[in-house]
Amino acid sequence: MTAAALGKASRANSSVDDGPDLVAMARQAVEKTLSRHDRYRAGTRLRQLNRYLWPKERVGTCGRRRGQTVSLQRSSKGQGVSWSGIETCGSIWACPICASKVRAARGDEVRFYIEHHLDRGGYVTLVSLTTSHSWAENLVDVYDDVQRAWAKTTSGRPWTRLVEQYGILGPIVAVEVTCGCNGWHPHLHVLLFHWKPMGRAGSDMDLAGDLRDRWTYMVDKHTDRTALGRVGCDVIPISGEAGIAAYMSKVHYEMTRGDLKRGRWGSRSAWQVGMDAAETSDARDIRAWKEYVEATKGRRMLRVSKELVAWYGKPVTTDISDEDLAAVEQDGPSVLHFTGGLYDRIHASRSLLSAEVPIAFESGGLLEVLNLLRREISPNVNILANRCTDNGDQSRVDGAWASAPLIGLSLT
Ligand SMILES: [Zn+2]
Repeated sequence: MTAAALGKASRANSSVDDGPDLVAMARQAVEKTLSRHDRYRAGTRLRQLNRYLWPKERVGTCGRRRGQTVSLQRSSKGQGVSWSGIETCGSIWACPICASKVRAARGDEVRFYIEHHLDRGGYVTLVSLTTSHSWAENLVDVYDDVQRAWAKTTSGRPWTRLVEQYGILGPIVAVEVTCGCNGWHPHLHVLLFHWKPMGRAGSDMDLAGDLRDRWTYMVDKHTDRTALGRVGCDVIPISGEAGIAAYMSKVHYEMTRGDLKRGRWGSRSAWQVGMDAAETSDARDIRAWKEYVEATKGRRMLRVSKELVAWYGKPVTTDISDEDLAAVEQDGPSVLHFTGGLYDRIHASRSLLSAEVPIAFESGGLLEVLNLLRREISPNVNILANRCTDNGDQSRVDGAWASAPLIGLSLT
């Protein structure tokens, strides 16, 4: 987003309102609900593809392993219901269900540093760094080159001079991978935290120009690529809530509806490639998705410099692993229980039942879920009260269950 666009967004936010437009608010609420459901369906479809491609790896077993009983649990924030009692994979790259939780938490961590630094009178600058690449190349090779060029950019005496000149405290580096007409395109969104202003083009103080020069030089020197001049190093100051929001959406900390749109023309997000592969079974998209998942496995999407941590401390989620963040369940009450055997059938179904069941509960409660499961799985799905384990042994229900109203569904 350009500085002009940021300014425009800021002005739009600060416009004076004549009063609440209830029709618009209602429409927005409906769209939000639909959007959340659509995201959930699309994410579940992609998780099914992962299950098919990697049946024995953690990303392929997400949502399959379970405790003795599985529940739908309500959020205390009124955001609907979701599954609890299942084991998740925690992949920030490859699993849309887990990534939505993990990325949201990591996004909040980044926001923590931006807000603290701006509050203290500092400057935050977003630097997007790219290099040339082609279809003939492996994602791993391009990814490694981009990271090497950044490591070289931020080392040595010339970098130390920039640190002193602009009072650079440290960076937060986020990696994003998109897919365009030249194949996979890993690139960096770097937030630079500094104390002195970035200056103007052509003056003695010109952070944007200095960064472009250095990135271009290091890409030329340490890789077989080019930095694509101005396009290869885009520099934008971040200020105010509109600027922070623009950054958040640019780096995709939260999966938005836009991430799931199919766009054959131009660049697609990695999620779009996966969703297209899951929806159409297109061989090229499946090959591309496999390459992406395997190339990103074990890599860190986000790095916060130790200088920033030393200066501002760190949010509590920083020390929580992606796996543990994804495993955090809703904080509201359990509203409907399922025997393990019935959940296995739901999870294994090809008709996205693991998405449709919570959606049906949100729309029509217990009876709508019951009708759905009787139609899709078996007429023998029945309501069980006080007997929610496969073997009907009440004593094996854990304490939380024992204290909750035991309304459950079972396949008999
Ligand atoms: Zn997962």
